Amino acid sequence: MTAQIRDSSEAKAHLATYERLDGVSASELMQTVQFGGLTYNDFLLLPGHIDFPASQVSLETPITKRISLKTPFMSSPMDTVTETEMAIAMALLGGIGVIHNNCTADEQAEMVRKVKMFENGFITEPVVLSPQHRVSDIKAIKAEFGFCGIPVTDTGKLRGRLIGIVTARDIQFLEDDTVTLDQVMTTDLVTAKAGVTLEEANHILRNSKKGKLPIVDEQGCLVSLLARSDLLKNQSYPLASKSVTSKQLLVAAAIGTRLDDRQRLEKLVAAGLDVVVLDSSQGDSVFQIEILQHIKATYGDRLQVIAGNVVTREQAASLIAAGADGIRVGMGSGSICITQEVMAVGRPQGTAVYQVAEFASQFGVPVVADGGISNVGHIAKALALGASAVMMGGLLAGTTESPGEYFYHEGKRLKKYRGMGSIDAMENNTKSSDSGSKARYYSESDTIKVAQGVTGAVLDKGSIRKFLPYLHLGLQHSLQDMGVSTVQALHEGVAQGKVRFEKRSPAAQLEGGVHSLHQYEKRLFA
Ligand code: GDP
Ligand code: GDP
Ligand code: 5GP
Repeated sequence: MTAQIRDSSEAKAHLATYERLDGVSASELMQTVQFGGLTYNDFLLLPGHIDFPASQVSLETPITKRISLKTPFMSSPMDTVTETEMAIAMALLGGIGVIHNNCTADEQAEMVRKVKMFENGFITEPVVLSPQHRVSDIKAIKAEFGFCGIPVTDTGKLRGRLIGIVTARDIQFLEDDTVTLDQVMTTDLVTAKAGVTLEEANHILRNSKKGKLPIVDEQGCLVSLLARSDLLKNQSYPLASKSVTSKQLLVAAAIGTRLDDRQRLEKLVAAGLDVVVLDSSQGDSVFQIEILQHIKATYGDRLQVIAGNVVTREQAASLIAAGADGIRVGMGSGSICITQEVMAVGRPQGTAVYQVAEFASQFGVPVVADGGISNVGHIAKALALGASAVMMGGLLAGTTESPGEYFYHEGKRLKKYRGMGSIDAMENNTKSSDSGSKARYYSESDTIKVAQGVTGAVLDKGSIRKFLPYLHLGLQHSLQDMGVSTVQALHEGVAQGKVRFEKRSPAAQLEGGVHSLHQYEKRLFA
């Protein structure tokens, strides 16, 4: 039915009464290719109505049933992406790093431990020395752990009687490392009594102008320690992903699905692991289901498990039934990946994310869109298709915090980035009998390694301390353009068909990129 519009003030009422909504819903978008799949570049979102500033857009989102982050960013468990430094920076900036397992269990646990030690509320197990220890012991601790504010107790242990503290300034100009600590320690101490709340203790620490605040019981025995630098870290990183009680940074790590991965996990949990990611390229296997059931039975909700990878509703159903707290989606969409080419199995990432997320949302299980994210728009689209978070490899490789050294090639500053299923990564792993990339992409009985990834290099992107805030701000603007102010509102708007989509033709994709220029410079942020 058509109606005559006499007056422009009637336009909105007319729209509501007579017109269908412009564009299509997400489910209609998927039906436009009933016998095919879509990926991020195949579609766009239509703009919504804006009545809030971009700064008000909250990107808070769950990554598992029990853990939510202030930003939807995860870094891939790859040996050219996530080790200690990346995991610390990701968590400080509101995301989470997944530490790779292409190393021994002890090496991986050590990386987890370092992330957990980086920031604290009460340091419940501080390093403690006795008065007979020497300055050389303090220097060794500094070299290993990076700090040197060490409480001194009569027994040299926690719960011994506190008699002093040694800090950097006490030993700064000392040349003789054999001097014992009783000669250099400060004994005039500001302490707080056990039972004090973290807020009260922080207040005492701030006012004391000291670097450390030892907490002692009624008998004067040391029970924990507070560091001033943690107050600064808390102030500098308001989005940081932290445990509510310990204030330690959250950290995730990948394991495989073999029997010895159970022992690996024990070490990771002892080091303080928060989230384990079951790293398989095809997650719907009896091995994954068994280890998933084992983990849930052993650790309960204390340890959150992200299972995967899957790309179909059926695969997701198997993992949700086995107790997955989150599902990782993607097969063959990674920038370094040749799975689809070699195995002929996989799925375009847009369709994979939509189908799995739509299914998993019915069970309250968040979905992580893994692979194929190469710009802010892809992140926004992954969230719009139902993902709660994205996992990035290539986009974060080449940053200061990713493992590896920079090198120059044809005048460009580059860092190596390789698939964990590349021959390069699998060969690296043969050095240890542990799992890792070889287990993910290669069977023990195989005599020939079939690669599922390539080795390459990516451009220097600078520090993620600038890059992640750029992704964050870009995403806030993107959600604002869609007319939604939270990730949850985006998911609801999409489910209700209020957030609208449109497929784009190859010509439309060309139009949407930079075109018709003789030359240009693409700077993404300043
Ligand atoms: P908020 O209530 O949203 O500010 O939650 P926070 O966790 O940021 O802060 C709660 C209290 O814990 C405040 O008193 C903070 O100063 C304190 N706090 C947060 N993080 C740390 C930390 O890493 N170390 C210490 N010592 N205190 C912290
Ligand atoms: P320091 O002055 O050399 O001790 O170092 P800072 O105070 O600048 O930093 C110490 C950092 O290491 C803080 O973030 C602490 O939470 C963290 N940390 C973790 N475990 C320990 C520990 O056992 N002792 C000390 N002193 N710091 C620890
Ligand atoms: P990117 O963000 O670079 O597009 O993709 C990263 C993702 O690719 C990782 O999180 C992981 O799921 C996947 N991946 C990493 N290495 C390989 C590989 O060698 N082969 C395949 N098929 N996928 C890989």
